[in-house]
Amino acid sequence: MTTSQRILITAALPYANGPIHLGHLAGAYLPADIYARYQRLKGRDVLFLCGSDEHGVAITITAEKEKITPQAVVDRYHEMNAAAFARFGMSFDNYSRTSLPLHHDTTRDFLLAFRKRGILKEKKEKQFFDEKAGMFLPDRYVRGTCPVCGNPDARGDQCETCGTYLDPMQLKEPRSAISGDPPVVRETTHLYFPLGEFQDRIERYVKERDARDGWKENVLQYCRGWFKEGLQDRAVTRDLSWGVHIPLPGYENKVVYVWFDAVLGYISSAKEWALREGRPDAWKEYWLDPATKYVAFIGKDNVVFHTIVFPAMLMAWNDGGKEQFVLPENVPANEFLNFEGQKFSKSRGWGIDVQDFLDKFPADPLRYYLAGALPEYRDSDFTWRDFQAKNNNELADIFGNFVNRTLAFAHRMFNGIVPERGPLNDTDNEALAVLARTPQKAGELFEQYRFRDGLTEVMNLARAANKYFNDSEPWKTARTDPARCATAINISVQLTRSLAILMSPIVPSSAEKLWQMLRLPGKAATQSWDDAGALPIPDAHVLGTTEILFAKIEDETIAGEISALGNVPAAPPAAPVAAGPGPVMIDDFKKIDLRVGKILKAERLPKSEKLLKLQVAVGPETRQIIAGIAKHYAPEDLVGKNVVVVYNLRPAKLMGEDSQGMLLAASDGSGKLAIVVPAEDIASGAIVR
Ligand SMILES: [Zn+2]
Repeated sequence: MTTSQRILITAALPYANGPIHLGHLAGAYLPADIYARYQRLKGRDVLFLCGSDEHGVAITITAEKEKITPQAVVDRYHEMNAAAFARFGMSFDNYSRTSLPLHHDTTRDFLLAFRKRGILKEKKEKQFFDEKAGMFLPDRYVRGTCPVCGNPDARGDQCETCGTYLDPMQLKEPRSAISGDPPVVRETTHLYFPLGEFQDRIERYVKERDARDGWKENVLQYCRGWFKEGLQDRAVTRDLSWGVHIPLPGYENKVVYVWFDAVLGYISSAKEWALREGRPDAWKEYWLDPATKYVAFIGKDNVVFHTIVFPAMLMAWNDGGKEQFVLPENVPANEFLNFEGQKFSKSRGWGIDVQDFLDKFPADPLRYYLAGALPEYRDSDFTWRDFQAKNNNELADIFGNFVNRTLAFAHRMFNGIVPERGPLNDTDNEALAVLARTPQKAGELFEQYRFRDGLTEVMNLARAANKYFNDSEPWKTARTDPARCATAINISVQLTRSLAILMSPIVPSSAEKLWQMLRLPGKAATQSWDDAGALPIPDAHVLGTTEILFAKIEDETIAGEISALGNVPAAPPAAPVAAGPGPVMIDDFKKIDLRVGKILKAERLPKSEKLLKLQVAVGPETRQIIAGIAKHYAPEDLVGKNVVVVYNLRPAKLMGEDSQGMLLAASDGSGKLAIVVPAEDIASGAIVR
């Protein structure tokens, strides 16, 4: 592997129909960014691409619900997610979007070439048609009774109650989601991609790349499952108005199916990047050079599209002989990250959006925490307590503390001038041995997409550095053996530089802050990974000013976040009956002081989609309560309502607002939420038991 090797890195295109949350970051984006930053430090020629996936039926449904255009929906979420990624420190070379004409052209190039070469086949099929609306109904536009669990409002593609994947024709008593009328069955024509014909080649492809680059076991398992089932031909077109239009007779009212155009978004993103660079053909240096290593980072819900569908599409194109696209060398997919023990759920308000999170905490502690908790082999869990513990006990107490004590000592005892390094003793040599081997050890793990283990190696260097500082006792040798003290501080300063480089893929902005504190030329991110173990800072180098690298997170801050969770009723969406916490004694129940309150005033919190600010009379007292019910109640509908308040809940701050108590609310797992109200009018302040 030469140092100039080209690496093309893509991260799954997020769907522009909602804000990204921490689960998305841990699934695909953070691993991709760590990998990209690491490879740049290795001196490789990296192109790192992403963009918004802006087509598909979920977007048109949102648009109809909100009575706006699909373009307005994708504009909103494209902006929102691009901004969230930027704040999180994603180092994309380009963040594109699939509604661009450039992308539509790329998609049509593939479709028309495939059609011309007879790859796509036309098939007639039966589909539901809404006579009142005058249109064919894509799967999600049909609702009806689930044949499995009897849920009367199952979606045509999947029942959200029992999770079964459905075909609209399987629904009992189907109705159109547009007019509400029962649809009729009509014949329609679609183009199909013959995925089945590619099965042998795809199986060989997966085997070969796995042997070469070590695919993850979870990814291979998904592939084996699909191979065993047998790959099926897939419809490439559908009856819909939002998407990439098809310049073929008979296809005027159809668009390209979103699975086909979304993966091509990686190619259009490269083209857009090249145009912006002023070298319109530069994208070919990555996509069309067989020496390029292409790594596609995704979450587990996207595996089939990147290990089977997209490679088959590229093979089909390459068979034409004109241009040869590189296929993914590896598809490192993560499992899911849960939030406090449950799946992230937008409809239930369970979880936290990236922007909301970054309004409260800087990006680097989140990156550090998620990097150590990546669901690389199995699902993992975000908890607020863990987040606080990792920030305080590791980032601040190990890495931050070593930097702080070293630089503070250098300023106090040596006027901020790096002292001379004299002869080395065993303690020095031991620390330098750990330093010398860390870049290679951590690097090998990053090359294998084992980011958690790679981070552990780097943090072990920070641990060794702290131990070195302790064992060297510079505060004693300053008096007894000044030359020894000087050597220990010289080496400690060199170690902080090494850590700045090795930690920069994980905590990029803190690494740059440290780089400035060291007053070294350039940036941490533009150094050489392989030279991170060297000791290049010259004697008498003048250091910059020191500041605290990582702030600790207070208990009450975290308690506020945890009590905010209490305002969102918890129940797994697929479970009809949520498992309760088990029996409690009456004395435990009596510890909860429940009282009737009357809502006097209700208003939205400007920066929150979930929270309402309520003024609630409880007896003679008026309390402010921040409740996570904004998605379920309009403020004006709440005023005058009697509710049940948890009166002795410890006060918390939510989005900067005091919250003195909590409302009781019920949820049934379908995403519905109802506040609990007394059946009769009763004086506010009345005790509930
Ligand atoms: Zn069902």
